[in-house]
Amino acid sequence: MVEKKIKNIHIIINPAAGKNEPVLAIINKGLKDSGIRWEILITKKAGDGLQFAKVAVKEGVDAVAAYGGDGTMMEVAGGLMGTEVPLVILPGGSANVLATELNIPKDLKEAFALIHHGPHEIKAVDMAQYNHCHFITGMVLGFGADLVKGADRESKNKFGILAYFFSAAAVLQRLKLTRYDLKIDGKEYRVKGLTCLVYNVGNLGFSKISLDKHIDISDGLLDVMILKKANLSFLKLLVTTFLTRERPENYELVEHWQGKDISLSSSRKQIVQCDGEVIEPISLHIKVIPAAIKILVPKLVPKKENKTIEK
Ligand SMILES: [Mg+2]
Repeated sequence: MVEKKIKNIHIIINPAAGKNEPVLAIINKGLKDSGIRWEILITKKAGDGLQFAKVAVKEGVDAVAAYGGDGTMMEVAGGLMGTEVPLVILPGGSANVLATELNIPKDLKEAFALIHHGPHEIKAVDMAQYNHCHFITGMVLGFGADLVKGADRESKNKFGILAYFFSAAAVLQRLKLTRYDLKIDGKEYRVKGLTCLVYNVGNLGFSKISLDKHIDISDGLLDVMILKKANLSFLKLLVTTFLTRERPENYELVEHWQGKDISLSSSRKQIVQCDGEVIEPISLHIKVIPAAIKILVPKLVPKKENKTIEK
């Protein structure tokens, strides 16, 4: 991972992003004396982010920045996939799971300062392809946006997070048991559960709380998890996860696999949420695309528990 000198950047802004802040003023202040050539593009409809990113690549920019939430990042990443042009994440959405995973500052000025003040480095991140679409953070079967509401609470607000965990548990308890048929790298499994996750990131939008310590955004593998029960033991598991910031292993409650090629269907029609957007429920074939995209991330002083540091 090396630092990249950025001289020419396109900035794609989703004006419908969740945060209310003077984006243009912050960008102008951050870049006006930097010597960087920059162009702003505003999305008006779904698909614009993807097209703007593709055009930016053709024009030979050094980086493409995107302002928005996970849905915006997914679109722009789609246009940068397979190229060497890095994505600069400017977290502006109501859910910023990708930004949280990569330790991108939540404050726009700080996130923006990474471009020219750094220190930054370029990290290769996996993406996943399903049917004719793709995702970065993950896919959830079984529940919609109701569970993710409040997922971007300040990590300092510990009781807020605990309250969120319990409301999540309440949503999960209302789900009906479904039979999942899976084929992971050629091996078949049939498991009954409440929800199934195909994940590329470890967090749900909270810093330092991990769905599973083995999840790595750059390991060339997707993580598949099925929650089998949402009973009292599950509440205990949530509390332990909250206190230790990491989910303890419990195969009675959670099945967990890793793989590169995943076929998945459920006996009951379930809502499918992908990178925070609800998609049509379908039978899914998901494949990892290792190191599909380069992302500009803060260069951190190595800490044992920090996942973005090279091992
Ligand atoms: Mg992975």
